[in-house]
Amino acid sequence: MITGKTGLLGVVGDPIGHSLSPLMHNAALEKLGADYVYVAFPVAAEQLKTAIEGFAAVGVRGFSVTIPHKQAIMPLLADISPAAQAVGAVNTVWRTEQGWAGTNTDVVGFLAPLQSLNRDWTEAKTVVLGNGGAARAVVAACAQMEMQAVHVVGRSLEKLAAFESSWQTSPLHPPLTVHAWESLTDLLSQADLVVNTTPIGMHPKADASPLTLELMQQVKQGAIAYDLIYTPSPTQFLTLAAQHGLTPIDGLEMLVQQGAAALEIWLQQAAPVDTMHQALKQHLGL
Ligand code: NAP
Repeated sequence: MITGKTGLLGVVGDPIGHSLSPLMHNAALEKLGADYVYVAFPVAAEQLKTAIEGFAAVGVRGFSVTIPHKQAIMPLLADISPAAQAVGAVNTVWRTEQGWAGTNTDVVGFLAPLQSLNRDWTEAKTVVLGNGGAARAVVAACAQMEMQAVHVVGRSLEKLAAFESSWQTSPLHPPLTVHAWESLTDLLSQADLVVNTTPIGMHPKADASPLTLELMQQVKQGAIAYDLIYTPSPTQFLTLAAQHGLTPIDGLEMLVQQGAAALEIWLQQAAPVDTMHQALKQHLGL
């Protein structure tokens, strides 16, 4: 029940109507009995500064940040965590005495399902398909796990070069090389982990996969195929991976874990991860 004391959390983005964050976070808040409500705020790029000044004025406790504001919000914050600086994007903001502080919980969200496998990752070679925003969190995560190699594969040589050079001053020093899509065959045969960070396979083109079955068959046995897409489930990429005997991981756990990490920052208490998972699964019909 919303009362005169109910605190406010939310997400800023544009567009934002499709966001699953309100559903996931409000299920968690209800489970915790926390007197907060989490709302989606459609905020146009030119209104971002005004919006967050307004949030401070009305006592918003914290908020999530999504496309297109993940980078644009950075100069508006009083403090940015090393994780967010390494990724170059902020997805979680909270109020401090000095002003708004930001971090990036996609890195811990991405790592959570890998860490639960209890493997040694220091010898691992990872192939990352795509070089957009999510790929940045994946590269930071691989560096944090001290992996041996991270090969980022993209379709634009210009964007790949910009991606590579953006890491040159990073304190994380990721073991990064970038490659054109044509190099995939050689890279896949050595990969321990293949991550799809492209939107290929999302609705409405749910039967598309960033890797053909032929390419998937190049991946060595025992490897993990990780798709950041969470709907449909499984994606065609993960269906092909499973056919080839690889271990599939979809993006739902990452979505839940990045949200749980944000909630823990805002409320300073453990998040009900199972409740968040269930709320999403029910909504997505999984
Ligand atoms: P983004 O910044 O737009 O990056 C998308 C990347 O995919 C770009 O490198 C783009 O290449 C590449 N790409 C797009 N279409 C392609 C195609 N047909 N062939 C080859 N490459 C293609 O998007 P993002 O924010 O990184 O998100 C990417 C995906 O991750 C989305 O599906 C998103 O839902 C998912 N995601 C999931 C979570 C989670 O919690 N599970 C979190 C974040 C993102 P160019 O650079 O050449 O355009």
